[in-house]
Amino acid sequence: MDIFEKDNRFIAHTYGRAPIAILRGAGSLVYDESDKPYIDLGSGIAVNIFGVGDEVWKEAVRRQMDCVQHASNLYYTAPQAELAELLAQKTGMRKVFFANSGAEANECMIKAARKYSYDKYGEGRHVIVTLKNSFHGRTITTLSASGQDSLHTHFMPFTPGFAYVQANDIQELEALLQNGDVCAVMLELIQGEGGVIPLDKAYVKQVEALAKERDILLLIDEVQTGNGRTGHFYAYMQYGIAPDIVSTAKGLGGGLPIGACMFFEKTQDVLSPGMHGSTFGGNPLAAAGAVSIVKRIDETLLAEVREKSAYIFRELSGAKGVKNVTGMGLMIGILAHRDAKEVLQACRERGVIVLTAHERVRLLPALNIPMGQLKQAIAVLKEVLSQ
Ligand SMILES: *Cc1c(COP(=O)(O)O)cnc(C)c1O
Repeated sequence: MDIFEKDNRFIAHTYGRAPIAILRGAGSLVYDESDKPYIDLGSGIAVNIFGVGDEVWKEAVRRQMDCVQHASNLYYTAPQAELAELLAQKTGMRKVFFANSGAEANECMIKAARKYSYDKYGEGRHVIVTLKNSFHGRTITTLSASGQDSLHTHFMPFTPGFAYVQANDIQELEALLQNGDVCAVMLELIQGEGGVIPLDKAYVKQVEALAKERDILLLIDEVQTGNGRTGHFYAYMQYGIAPDIVSTAKGLGGGLPIGACMFFEKTQDVLSPGMHGSTFGGNPLAAAGAVSIVKRIDETLLAEVREKSAYIFRELSGAKGVKNVTGMGLMIGILAHRDAKEVLQACRERGVIVLTAHERVRLLPALNIPMGQLKQAIAVLKEVLSQ
């Protein structure tokens, strides 16, 4: 049996996979089973932020592999400590919990928000408000947190204690807060899976003000937007807000699974010994790789991200077949006249990998994609969109 037959026979059918196998790569080029090359504008869904096989990352992981690959969280390990210090220096966060994925980072954020409120106000003030069309993960609780009806089927009962409001409608949120049972508001600043839709800056500032006034925590899900993706280290920085907890994952590990739940001043001591944990969380290989990634997300790289972003917006805004372009940095959504899935397939046939999010074509290239490859890929995309 070949890869495709084995996969179809033995792997649960939870994914609608493209009919190619990615077997190797170098930077923003990946190769399939017949050695056909593709320029990758997806980076494994915003994960390989320095592309495939990045030498600095490989060396950091290799060095750690020669020391110890796993020790459990019963002991101290060097890469976790180093990564935590680095994140603290770059964000001002006070404490971090390391998990293995975005959903897990969000689970930790949700637990901590409820515990903060329980400690101060007792039972009954546990509701977390999220936005309609949001996406926060695939566990029962993070599905519950996700404000999409299509995700609230099949697996009932879902975790109670979430309420959903329309993005950019401050009145609706204000009315909901009158109930007095809300402990936190949880937001993606750019709805990623929901279609690459940035929130209005004024709205986010109003949410922050309402939350601060009532000691309601502001939780920011930066699983996709974080780690340089939007042209800033974290997207909350460009919104000019001070969150109470920030979750991240995807790009943080540069390809190995790691998630982080970062606590700021108010929430730093909410979780105490025994309240949360993970066997693999902050695994030394993943954390060592993450250190090598986070160190390089500096002003020079971020300026490059913003430049490449401006180039993509310039090329695609108003181009033939394009209705509009949304997003920030290298997180871009394109509403096209053609069906997004059709565009994805046509691009793949021409050697360019793109993603979709709802009805939009979505681009999440490596942050260091060479300009030449980006130009080549955008030319292909423009041609496909114009047909
Ligand atoms: C991808 C994503 C998640 C889920 O992350 P996993 O690593 O797949 O669990 C959660 N929130 C947002 C905003 C995401 O983009």
